[in-house]
Amino acid sequence: MRLSLDAIPEHAIAVLDHGFVRLDEAMASDLAVVNSARVSFGRRKEEMEQADEGLIRFLMRDRHGTPFEHNAFRFHVRCPIFVAREWFRHRIGSFNEFSMRYARATDEFYVPAAEDVRTQVGKPGAYSFEPVSEELAEQTRDELRAVYEQAFATYERLVELGVARELARAVMPVGAYTEFYWTVNARALMNFVALRNHETAQREIRRYAEAVEAFFAEKMPVTHTAFVANGRVAP
Ligand SMILES: Cc1cc2nc3c(=O)[nH]c(=O)nc-3n(C[C@H](O)[C@H](O)[C@H](O)COP(=O)(O)OP(=O)(O)OC[C@H]3O[C@@H](n4cnc5c(N)ncnc54)[C@H](O)[C@@H]3O)c2cc1C
Repeated sequence: MRLSLDAIPEHAIAVLDHGFVRLDEAMASDLAVVNSARVSFGRRKEEMEQADEGLIRFLMRDRHGTPFEHNAFRFHVRCPIFVAREWFRHRIGSFNEFSMRYARATDEFYVPAAEDVRTQVGKPGAYSFEPVSEELAEQTRDELRAVYEQAFATYERLVELGVARELARAVMPVGAYTEFYWTVNARALMNFVALRNHETAQREIRRYAEAVEAFFAEKMPVTHTAFVANGRVAP
């Protein structure tokens, strides 16, 4: 059975033209942060109280990071390969990815919306990204589609001829979609969100980081508020 899902699964946030972020499972709550911190004093609570919110703000501000590590999120993500490459640089977390060695490659490719076709202005480290003319945006989209079509047709032909998938995949562009599972604790998630839901991050991964942050805020609202109040610096 192909893992790749044609439709966006339920409870997923759609991202880009064929992607999504879905929270597969979470063991995550603000109370877990509080209880992890209070175990130092041999105490445990069943419910959050006002004072606990202050404790979370203190832990965040003074960068006592370990109590945030007792929360886990497992995400199911579909994104272009170039986004996954950026994502996989985040070492604190676990990944398992769809394999083009064992399964047939996807025929879904990222074509940016016209307003996302941009030009790069300025120097390394201080780029800004400006819109391009309508004509250039359409030309970019057409040229991407043409390359994707040709690449996928070549892939299919080689596989039909008996070339191993693990080799035929060499023709696939980094705009092809891939899927993976990512399990991450709240501390490393905040580091990811701080770096990737940021104006300096590439627009495409930023859209995914926004979705990750929305799930985080839903599951751990007090922690998320403290993170934002602390200037979005991970503890
Ligand atoms: C805007 C932007 C531009 C980038 N440009 C480039 C680029 O041009 N080239 C490039 O190669 N990468 C680039 N990166 C990737 C970047 O260098 C990091 O690899 C990536 O952001 C992961 O961050 P991290 O190490 O903090 O996360 P994680 O790997 O998840 O680590 C989380 C935290 O754990 C600690 N940690 C993890 N591993 C170690 C270790 N070995 N030693 C000490 N502490 C550790 C650190 O405190 C780290 O912040 C870029 C990232 C961003 C956001």
